[in-house]
Amino acid sequence: MDNDIFEPALQKGALGERLSREEAYGLAEAITPDRLHRLGAAALANRQRRFGRQATYVFNLQINPTNICGSGCTFCNYAASKHAAHAYVLEEPAIFDQVERLGPTEVHIVGGLNQIWPFARNLELVRSLRNRYPELYIKSFTAVEIDYFAKTAGLPESTVLDQLKAAGMDAMPGGGAEIFSDRLYRQHWKNKTSPDGWVRIHQLAHSKGIPTNASMLFGFGDTWDERIEHLLILRQAQDRSGGFSCFIPLPFQPGAGNFIDNGPTPLETLSVLAISRLVLDNIPHLKSYWPMTGLETGAAGLSWGADDMDGTISEEKIAHLAGAATPVGMARAKMEESIITAGFAPVERDGVFSPRGGLQ
Ligand code: SF4
Repeated sequence: MDNDIFEPALQKGALGERLSREEAYGLAEAITPDRLHRLGAAALANRQRRFGRQATYVFNLQINPTNICGSGCTFCNYAASKHAAHAYVLEEPAIFDQVERLGPTEVHIVGGLNQIWPFARNLELVRSLRNRYPELYIKSFTAVEIDYFAKTAGLPESTVLDQLKAAGMDAMPGGGAEIFSDRLYRQHWKNKTSPDGWVRIHQLAHSKGIPTNASMLFGFGDTWDERIEHLLILRQAQDRSGGFSCFIPLPFQPGAGNFIDNGPTPLETLSVLAISRLVLDNIPHLKSYWPMTGLETGAAGLSWGADDMDGTISEEKIAHLAGAATPVGMARAKMEESIITAGFAPVERDGVFSPRGGLQ
């Protein structure tokens, strides 16, 4: 990269100023050992201006009603055919029991695409959870699921979102975006929502006052240019609709799909976090997703631009069936210890990133 661009780009990024397309692409080109630390320092300065030493997490529960799915995404070790040995279907009493037992602040509901758990049943699940737990923050269904519900229920996407919101859905998670590359879309997930469709559904949700997260899967044959383009598409979408709360880079799990031996290295993951923080000037939060990064890299991500560690994530299945080596859940004390050890002040938050208990 042109030396005349790299340092000014870092300085602008550290101050939270908008980077041009050229500067954004140039940051990735400049990832060399002698420049990595300067990149991380700029991302740290940016996150410190926004959040000081605070690092948030939420006490949450993943609800994955079923892993039965026929979409055939090449990188997915979570999905199962109906008769596979590892196929499962949760029934509502088991889900209510999980919520009752754990008492989470937030639930995150995502699952496979099938007609055992069709739209009407998922809608009723949201309504029942809302009726039973009025304070519970319900983050449910990726854009891929909204797309599937609309097609299989014969309803416009708009109606699906309206009905879910009326039933009690608070927000949508950011999964299913994968990476905004038509090249990789055709190779790896051509049977589900395209990059354009994913953005369209999120912007439709924003227009209805439904906040959403955004994600990016990386490290499965994607290029740095494709990663930067993904970030720029998100930034542009956020300029239009303003409803993205948080961005979550997801490092590929090497066990998933078995077509690549190694996922991203910890330094590559940290570089993605740092560049994301510098490019996404208009998305408030950046999550270091420990179930996929590992706890140590996840906590290190707080020094590379991230301000949130996601949650304690009781009962998480998706990353673990894809080969993640992290524990399936984490106690509050362990989460806080990890954050403190990384040099930050843990703050337990609610679903909209507001502190619940102040500094712990
Ligand atoms: S990634 Fe989602 S849509 Fe694709 S196969 Fe897995 S569960 Fe199905």
